Amino acid sequence: STAAPSTVPLDILREVFGYDRFRGPQAAIVEHVSAGGDALVLMPTGGGKSLCYQIPAIARHRAGRGVTVVVSPLIALMHDQVGALEEAGVHAAFLNSTLSLEEAQRVERELMSGRLVLLYAAPERVTTPRFLAQLESLYLRGRLALFAIDEAHCVSQWGHDFRSEYLGLSVLHERFADVPRIALTATADEHTRADIVERLQLQDARVFISSFDRPNIRYTIVEKDNPRAQLLRFIRDEHEGEAGIVYCQSRKKVEETAAWLNDEGIAALPYHAGLDAAVRQQHQDRFLREEGLVMVATIAFGMGIDKPDVRFVAHLDLPKNIESYYQETGRAGRDGEPAEAWMAYGLADVVNQRRMIDESPASEDFKRVQRGKLDALLALAETHECRRVRLLAYFGEDYGAAAASPGGGDLLGVQAGRPTMRARCGNCDNCLAPPATWDATDAARKALSCIYRFHQHGAHGAAPRAFGAGHLIDVLRGKRTDKVAQYGHDRLSTFGIGADLTEAQWRGVLRQLVALGHVTAEGEYGTLHLADSARSVLRGEVHLLLRVPAEPARGRATRPRG
Ligand code: ADP
Ligand code: ZN
Repeated sequence: STAAPSTVPLDILREVFGYDRFRGPQAAIVEHVSAGGDALVLMPTGGGKSLCYQIPAIARHRAGRGVTVVVSPLIALMHDQVGALEEAGVHAAFLNSTLSLEEAQRVERELMSGRLVLLYAAPERVTTPRFLAQLESLYLRGRLALFAIDEAHCVSQWGHDFRSEYLGLSVLHERFADVPRIALTATADEHTRADIVERLQLQDARVFISSFDRPNIRYTIVEKDNPRAQLLRFIRDEHEGEAGIVYCQSRKKVEETAAWLNDEGIAALPYHAGLDAAVRQQHQDRFLREEGLVMVATIAFGMGIDKPDVRFVAHLDLPKNIESYYQETGRAGRDGEPAEAWMAYGLADVVNQRRMIDESPASEDFKRVQRGKLDALLALAETHECRRVRLLAYFGEDYGAAAASPGGGDLLGVQAGRPTMRARCGNCDNCLAPPATWDATDAARKALSCIYRFHQHGAHGAAPRAFGAGHLIDVLRGKRTDKVAQYGHDRLSTFGIGADLTEAQWRGVLRQLVALGHVTAEGEYGTLHLADSARSVLRGEVHLLLRVPAEPARGRATRPRG
């Protein structure tokens, strides 16, 4: 018998792809889109986004509705997917800049013939008049089944890889309004999501959000004190002989850290873009094949690495933003077994990241976005509440009941009037050992006045001067150093007004002030300057509640309620 091929999604999943069942929200998505609905799909990397449009594409082609056009910016991914689909007996092709004119013409003929089930195309291709005319002709014959827009965050400047060609994709909806569309992305923060909906005109689309939670990953963020010793203690105490990744910002630091770990008896390999391609490949192969190796790497390492038993990911430098932190830490514990995401960060990290943004040649608009993202990451690092709640809130997810404010957008350190009942994951440093907090409002004002006095003092005698955090802390704590004597800073009214606080507490205060943008740190030495907003702190309008640093602090510390 020659029964017509099934258009039932589950049949297609089993026959064509050889899987038993749908994962998470796949079934609902596939059902909705096969029936002609619009969808916005937010799913973490590895969640299974491809099937969400491939199965509706097959179902609709089998039902005589024609071709699905998949817009994708990733040429390598197009090749892989088309190869895999053809292997599974699904007729697919791609159109991008790697094709010769003849090859492109052959694909176009296939497209117009109606035999093609899926056509992958780069965004700049899709919006050419020539291609739109071809789509028009298919459309008029009822042979345009579906548009799938992959990596949809590329339409947003808030996303990490904005592509202006994506803006042109709204033409698809304008010209072919009744052809269903599915947009997919792994970047789900609220700004990006709102941009996707608005710019692709997906107001009526159903939104499917998968959880971004990785429950087996324990999150820990510590204040940098002696980062190498801290890292060593972390690996020795908890991950001796296990595979892990240590991320550093610079190539030099990667090399040095790997060499140092080896000296300490922990087998480590360096990986960064400055290494010979053959060496890089060899290190990557060894990391995948051998057990218990530590890869010390820049962010050049990790794309497409699928090693299930990475037991920890450590950051010795601050990542760029929460998306990066999530992607990088997400390489731990793919096998579902307990894994750890550990990061050490300090004032210098905050200063560096701020400077990198300030000094980049990007537009002011772009810099503003980057600063906003950095602030969100700093809020995650500084919070004394559940890290997971914060992290997921950034992706628009409510963890647990009565969970965090949506978007986690409340200002770093501004805790006044917040409810005390918070969701807790039980698997992050803050849940496992709730940090004590202290009211740093007064201390912040003292620090700001002292920075102000430095400038004033200069005006009386020598030229106005600015100083870095180390000297400022010495003055606040009343230490009579050579530098203090040299500049006569022991005569300042702010000399010694902060003797009651430890150095670590002062570092915490300054880190927060820089993180919040009340103080800027400039130049090679990170000299401190007051920003306009410092006035609000001096006037007592901003309250700072800080975590008590790791070393024991004197007085004023209180355990949080609950
Ligand atoms: P994403 O694009 O979201 O990163 P992919 O579509 O590449 O994810 O899917 C990730 C992996 O999961 C692929 O190897 C895919 O074959 C597999 N996968 C997806 N859905 C299922 C399923 N329902 N059952 C089994 N494996 C699946
Ligand atoms: Zn927690």
